Amino acid sequence: MKEKILIIEDEKELISGLKLNLEFESYEVISALDGEEGLTKALKEAPDLILLDIMLPKKDGLDVCRELRQQNVTTPIIMLTAKGEEVDKVVGLELGADDYITKPFSLKELLARIKAHLRRGKREKKAAPSVYHFNDIEIDFIHFKIFRDGKEFDLTSLEVEILKHFVAYRGEVVSREDLLDQIWGHEKYPSTRTIDNHILKLRKKLEDDPTKSKYIFSVYGEGYRFMGGL
Ligand code: CA
Repeated sequence: MKEKILIIEDEKELISGLKLNLEFESYEVISALDGEEGLTKALKEAPDLILLDIMLPKKDGLDVCRELRQQNVTTPIIMLTAKGEEVDKVVGLELGADDYITKPFSLKELLARIKAHLRRGKREKKAAPSVYHFNDIEIDFIHFKIFRDGKEFDLTSLEVEILKHFVAYRGEVVSREDLLDQIWGHEKYPSTRTIDNHILKLRKKLEDDPTKSKYIFSVYGEGYRFMGGL
């Protein structure tokens, strides 16, 4: 699956140049021309990395960065700073940006930074704990149970594996292909409908109202996003 990069930048020419080069490097590229649109896309489209300009219409890059981190979005953020924005650069790092690059920058350097941050992002995925609490729910991975509303629900081993994966990647889109690879492995390849059936059963155990999911969201055309504890 292609890694997705969101460019939040108000210089259209810079966007189109970057888009061309990043797509050539096999990344999927989406973009936003102002801070508000950027924040919305960062939250809804689950990019793997964000290139964030500082001086932006509607909402500046520093506010976008702050709001993303406040919402527990851990996506790597590389700020694009202009000369003379040294102070903003420091503030950006304090607000949770991972890196910055000063315009005008070399494409080679930007690509190297992007690759490094995407690699780091993958390494830092947290392992699932033996018990995971959020709101009034407890998932017990050792005893294969969910406790919710004073009720106890048994989990199958497949459901436990799916939940472990969701918890490790919470807040991010998990594709059906990821689940197939990680949980079923390459040998047994069930249909994606099989996965959807397992998710349906999980929702019944996890959600007050399985038709209005609060924790396992469907992301159209992509997969699922688990938001328990976020
Ligand atoms: Ca700008």
